[in-house]
Amino acid sequence: MWSCPKCSSEVEDSFEVCWNCGTSKTGVEDPNFVTADAMPPIVDPRYDPVALPDPTIKAQWVTVHGEPEDELVVCYQAGSLPEAKFLADQLVDRGIPAMADTIDLQDALGVWDGNPRVYCRAGDLERARPFIEDYERRLKKESNPEA
Ligand SMILES: [Zn+2]
Repeated sequence: MWSCPKCSSEVEDSFEVCWNCGTSKTGVEDPNFVTADAMPPIVDPRYDPVALPDPTIKAQWVTVHGEPEDELVVCYQAGSLPEAKFLADQLVDRGIPAMADTIDLQDALGVWDGNPRVYCRAGDLERARPFIEDYERRLKKESNPEA
């Protein structure tokens, strides 16, 4: 063990620089040192509901709805592909352009995580939300009619 000359942290002999501040045994400071805590968190896009969808969804969107004037966001994570498709169709029926993940896309990317997403434009999220909440309420009622 050696003590860091800058911050007095105890450092294992196998480390050349202090784990806490990046200073070397001889007191040379590393101006570019970044602690693990200061690093931005790594977000797994598959589990970030508002992450930008895969660019291929955007390409599909352009073929179906035309160039989106707005960012595409995930508005719902469905339990199955037919459900995602159904919900997207319902939104389109209500004048809200939407699109669901497709089996082909999931297969192609190998990112299938069992939660097909429904996308809409960021600006339509507020309009889509009440419908989605209503849909979820009906879904719960169906699976549990006593509630
Ligand atoms: Zn130190």
